[in-house]
Amino acid sequence: MSSSTSGVVNGGVSFWYADDGLPAVREPLAGDASADVVIVGGGYTGLWTAYYLKKAAPFLRITVLEQKFCGYGASGRNGGWLYNGIAGRDRYARLHGHEAAVRLQRAMNDTVDEVIRVAEAEGVDADIHKGGVLEVACTPAQAARLRAFHEAELAFGEKDRELYGARETAERIRVADAVGSSWTPHGARVHPVKLVKGLAAAVEGLGVTVHESTPVTEIRPRHAVTPYGTVRAPYVLRCTEGFTASLKGRSGRGCP
Ligand SMILES: Cc1cc2nc3c(=O)[nH]c(=O)nc-3n(C[C@H](O)[C@H](O)[C@H](O)COP(=O)(O)OP(=O)(O)OC[C@H]3O[C@@H](n4cnc5c(N)ncnc54)[C@H](O)[C@@H]3O)c2cc1C
Repeated sequence: MSSSTSGVVNGGVSFWYADDGLPAVREPLAGDASADVVIVGGGYTGLWTAYYLKKAAPFLRITVLEQKFCGYGASGRNGGWLYNGIAGRDRYARLHGHEAAVRLQRAMNDTVDEVIRVAEAEGVDADIHKGGVLEVACTPAQAARLRAFHEAELAFGEKDRELYGARETAERIRVADAVGSSWTPHGARVHPVKLVKGLAAAVEGLGVTVHESTPVTEIRPRHAVTPYGTVRAPYVLRCTEGFTASLKGRSGRGCP
């Protein structure tokens, strides 16, 4: 089999990096250091945390330690959907009540616009287009499930969702055999790599220190240990997502 398919090279991290290019890697940590907050992992979780912390408290000395380069993980490899879906919303409602789930859903809806707002404010051109999310049914069985889903969303409180028949769907998108669709305005397309590169530059611009090529081998209370030195801070935030098991003492714990 060829190592290259449609411009994607095996080992080239992702389609998005093949499109936009791998970044120049920032300087690694050069010895022991201290900070108010250390963030381990330069994906969306780490970088957005750095961004809002610095905005809320500009005096904080924040250091991000990233093992490869910002956006090396899922943040630079995902589907590029910026949308309001919540995995496990029903369970959340069972645990915390319907009103809490509605508030969470509204926060997720607002998050789509918030990402777009910050991207604009920080001059990040991430090819963002807010066209909503269209879920398409191609068989009568899918259409019945889609209608039930649509009505459940309206009953939950998502009043701005719309249901389209075959003709209205065809006016919006050409999908073979489409018989109907359900649309929510709370969705946008992004270029994930342009977003994560822009976000990393924005947090640096705010005064956050970002070290790349700096793997954290162990997190201890108030210490992030790397081969190049240890960063001490009252707060060490682990934002390593699926890589977590590679940290000392965390094997088998892929999730937070
Ligand atoms: C195939 C795929 C498609 C997806 N599609 C979508 C989508 O369309 N829309 C959507 O909203 N979400 C999508 N997601 C989910 C989304 O991409 C992730 O939830 C999100 O990127 C997680 O961000 P993160 O910062 O928590 O993790 P990551 O992006 O994985 O970042 C973790 C970072 O930590 C670094 N790191 C790890 N260990 C260490 C260490 N020991 N020392 C230093 N640094 C370390 C890694 O190099 C990495 O850069 C998708 C995920 C995948 C896998």
